[in-house]
Amino acid sequence: MILRLALGTAEESVQALRERLESAGLRVLRSPEEARPILAVAGKVPEKLAAELRTRAEVAEIVKPSGELLLVARAMRELPSVVDVGGVRIGGGDVVVIAGPCSVEGRELVLEVARKVKDCGAHLLRGGAFKPRTSPYAFQGFGVEGLRQLKDAGEAVGLPVVSEIMDASDLPAFLEHGIDCLQIGARNMQNFTLLKAVARANRPVLLKRGLAATAEEWLYAAEYLFEGGCEQVILCERGIRTFEKATRNTLDLTVLPLLREWSHVPVIVDPAHAAGIARIIPPLARASIAAGADGVAVEVHLNPEEARSDAAQALLPRELLGIVSDARILAAVTGRRLHP
Ligand code: PEP
Ligand code: MN
Repeated sequence: MILRLALGTAEESVQALRERLESAGLRVLRSPEEARPILAVAGKVPEKLAAELRTRAEVAEIVKPSGELLLVARAMRELPSVVDVGGVRIGGGDVVVIAGPCSVEGRELVLEVARKVKDCGAHLLRGGAFKPRTSPYAFQGFGVEGLRQLKDAGEAVGLPVVSEIMDASDLPAFLEHGIDCLQIGARNMQNFTLLKAVARANRPVLLKRGLAATAEEWLYAAEYLFEGGCEQVILCERGIRTFEKATRNTLDLTVLPLLREWSHVPVIVDPAHAAGIARIIPPLARASIAAGADGVAVEVHLNPEEARSDAAQALLPRELLGIVSDARILAAVTGRRLHP
């Protein structure tokens, strides 16, 4: 359960309440820096103790979230949370655009595409160095060298960078190379060992939805990150497997308004991996922002047909420019603004 305490509750009372719950064998977790203290209680609260809590003056409200989704639950925060990725604020009324190649393909290429991404007005540069490929014969990425090239390109144009981490043993390299946001890919959404290791890194995390994950399972993956000490999480819808074969996946925008009700965590949409077809990405990006996404993530290549991964969904810079200008309009229509 979640206990929302009365505004102005003294720290000693919070502590006493905490001790009372812990003495009953429960685990108590707290929201950071809220005006009112908010406590999450993990474990089953015995009815007698629940009755006692209802009579306590400092307990203003008791919220029972769905299952054991506690730290990600909407009730844990007064306002939706905002994640700062290298100075770019994601969530809380700003709409962002993340763009870059599917894979980092070399120093010059990533720098050129980074320049275009910046010129088009995108806010974050993406690029995979460790690639989760279906076939072991497909390009696997340049590994640590790719991280270095991505970060150098980002620094050259002034954009924070995001890149996928597949194995906890690579974490030191991601940190050492200053990767601003760690992406957990769809195929690893429920890799709990990876989630726990990444949580300890104290870096923003972009958590993509699993290929066949329910929204609830996806939120539990985010809960792992929060429980492990990482409060800087951004969810990313990227399409799920359905019977539809016309597209790579099916973009599930249905969950967006629901996630808003269930959670305070910002949500962006990656229409590229959902569609898998470049020409249908711009309308899906518009729909995502119209449905309330805090941003969109797309893939860009200077010569899409030559991309070493996900060629069919790579956009040209001019198509990215269109997405950024549409994002500006749709952010305004939905009472928000494009991140400056
Ligand atoms: C990617 O972002 O390049 C990627 C592999 O995405 P996903 O994990 O959503 O398939
Ligand atoms: Mn890709």
